[in-house]
Amino acid sequence: MVESRIALVRAPNPSPMTLTGTNSYIIDCGNGEAICIDPGPPIEPHVDALIAQCERVNCKLSWIALTHGHPDHAPAAALLSKRTNARVAAYETSEIARDRSLRDGDAIVAGDITLQTTTAPGHSADHVVFYEPREAALFTGDTVLGEGYVLITPPDGDMRAYMQTLARLSREFANARTIFGGHGEPVSDPAAKLQEYLEHRRIRERQILDALQNGDKTVSELVESIYAQTNRALWAAAAQQVLAYLDALEREGHVRSQQMKNSEPLFTLSSNSG
Ligand SMILES: [Zn+2]
Repeated sequence: MVESRIALVRAPNPSPMTLTGTNSYIIDCGNGEAICIDPGPPIEPHVDALIAQCERVNCKLSWIALTHGHPDHAPAAALLSKRTNARVAAYETSEIARDRSLRDGDAIVAGDITLQTTTAPGHSADHVVFYEPREAALFTGDTVLGEGYVLITPPDGDMRAYMQTLARLSREFANARTIFGGHGEPVSDPAAKLQEYLEHRRIRERQILDALQNGDKTVSELVESIYAQTNRALWAAAAQQVLAYLDALEREGHVRSQQMKNSEPLFTLSSNSG
């Protein structure tokens, strides 16, 4: 087995949404160059830590690659690029200032490291993942995490696109050795993790359809019945998830919503569903 050239540098921004903090990665490219994936939030000591890691492996940073533009992943790109002259690469629809726009299939190459870009919409519309063949490493940003599940918040988040992304990743990267996510610890069984993620989403969607089978419901009522065993502190996030499923199901004609006067919309199963 090749010795790993991937170093995880965690940003000091822990929170319920970012778990123990955002994961930034520095990859030693073997020729004196390095690539940073997701430099993280704009926290100066974290930028110092990323530069220190490059110095530790005697590398000059040449690329900063972004999985997506969220505030806990991307804003340090500008600070880090200013201090190192590294070029910033992000998906072509990203709102982040960049030197290179990435599309599906594009590769970032430095030394003997190649990062293959795969578009991964769902958590955000501008999300991509990077695959590094030398270590069979899949960098998933907020598409797959080291623990827990990913928050999908419409309208930028799209549950159906997210499920299609998970299915594509599990088809194309079943042989990946490690998933390096945007939060949490590295995952050593990518195929199982991707299956578990997909299964979790299918079960939730089924639960929503089953609940609507027993009568029309609002998002709050759906959360109460489906997340009954879940800590109430998480119900607001759960409501976002339920809404994301309903949004997809409504677009596909499986459910209809009706705005009730002075209250939440009421969701109804369409007659062609079940
Ligand atoms: Zn995110």
